[in-house]
Amino acid sequence: MSNPTIGIIGGGQLGSMLCSAAKNLNIKTIIISDNKNAPAQFFADEFIFCKYDDNIKIEEFTSKVDYVTFEFENIPYETLCKIDNIKKVNPKPSINKIIQNRLSEKDFLNKNNIKTTSYISVKNESELRSSQDFIPGILKTCTLGYDGKGQYKINNENELDNLKVNFENHYILEKLVKLKKEISVIITRFGKQKYEVYDPIENVHEDQILKYSKIPAEINKELFDKSKDYAKYIAEELDYVGTMCVEYFIDKNDNLYVNEIAPRVHNSGHLTINAYNISQFENHIRAVCGLDKIEIKKLYNAKMINLIGEDILVYRKKIFKDNEFFFDYQKDTVEKKRKMGHLTTIEK
Ligand code: ADP
Ligand code: MG
Repeated sequence: MSNPTIGIIGGGQLGSMLCSAAKNLNIKTIIISDNKNAPAQFFADEFIFCKYDDNIKIEEFTSKVDYVTFEFENIPYETLCKIDNIKKVNPKPSINKIIQNRLSEKDFLNKNNIKTTSYISVKNESELRSSQDFIPGILKTCTLGYDGKGQYKINNENELDNLKVNFENHYILEKLVKLKKEISVIITRFGKQKYEVYDPIENVHEDQILKYSKIPAEINKELFDKSKDYAKYIAEELDYVGTMCVEYFIDKNDNLYVNEIAPRVHNSGHLTINAYNISQFENHIRAVCGLDKIEIKKLYNAKMINLIGEDILVYRKKIFKDNEFFFDYQKDTVEKKRKMGHLTTIEK
C-alpha cells in the first residue's frame, strides 16, 4: 500500500506541527482551512482553502484522505458529521460537540464528579444581574472563545453598569478562582485503557494567553497523581482517540479544578517535541492513524516561552544555543496578542 494520508481540519501552528510529525512517520498530509494564509499550508503536502460549509471542497478533501482529525475545536459540528459518515474523524464529533460549548463541557465534568470552577448560565442582562454570587468572576462566551477572546472580567457589581455585552451570544459566568498555579495534563489515548500520559506541565498566563510552560510542574505528589488520573478518566469516559489536554486550576488551598478540556494537541505541550522521546503531535498522528503505541519517556526537564506579537521580531535575529529550539510559525502578519512562535529550552 502506498503511504496513507491524514486530513487535518484547521491551518494554524498546531496543524503545522502535526504535519511535521506525520512527515517523519511517512504519512502524507492535507490541510483544509478557511484561512487563505493558513501557516500550516507551508508544512503540508496539500492545502485546500474553503469555507467549512463548502460541500464540494469538503467532499474533495474527504475523498483524498484515509484518516481525519482537526487542530482546533470550533469546526461546525455538521461538517464534522458529514465527513465522519464517510471517513472516520478522530476524536469523534460527539466529543467535539460537548467541548465546543463551555456550558455542556462543564456540565459533563460535574456529572462525572470532577470539580470545575462554579458557574452559571447567562443568556441576558437580567440573568447577569441576578448572578451576583458569582462576582468577582469572568463572563465567557459559551462558544468560539480562545486566548481570552469573548471574556469579560467583572471585579465588582458596580462594573456591571459599564459592561457592554453582546447578548446575541450565550455566556457562562464563572467565579474567579484565587489561583496558586495552573497546570495541564496531556494524554494520548489509543483505545480502551490504552494511553500514554505526559507529566503535568506548569503554565503561566498573561492577559489570559499562555506565556510560559515548564516541566516538571512544582506541585505535590497528590496533585501530580490526581491530575493524571482525571485526564485518564475523562479520556476513557469520552471514548477519546488521539491527543487531548486537560487544563487545571490549583487554588490557594491546593484544590484542583478542571478549567477546560482541549480536544486536540495543546500549546502547553510544545515542549514535548524536544523533551520527550515522542511528542504530543507524533502521538496524536499515531493514535488517529492506528499506529503502535510506544511508551513515552521524558528525556529532559524543559521550559517554553510563547512569542506573542512583536516578540517574534527580536527572536528572528537571535542566535540560539544547542539546547534552545526556536519555532517560527511563519504567519503572514505580526499582530498584537497573536501567537507568532515559541522557544523551548531543555536542561541538558
Ligand atoms: P480560553 O478558552 O481563552 O483559553 P480560559 O477559560 O482557559 O479561556 O481562560 C484563559 C485564562 O484566564 C486561564 O488560563 C486563567 O489564567 C484565566 N482564567 C479564566 N477563568 C478563570 C477563573 N474562573 N478564575 C481565575 N482565572 C481564570
Ligand atoms: Mg484555556
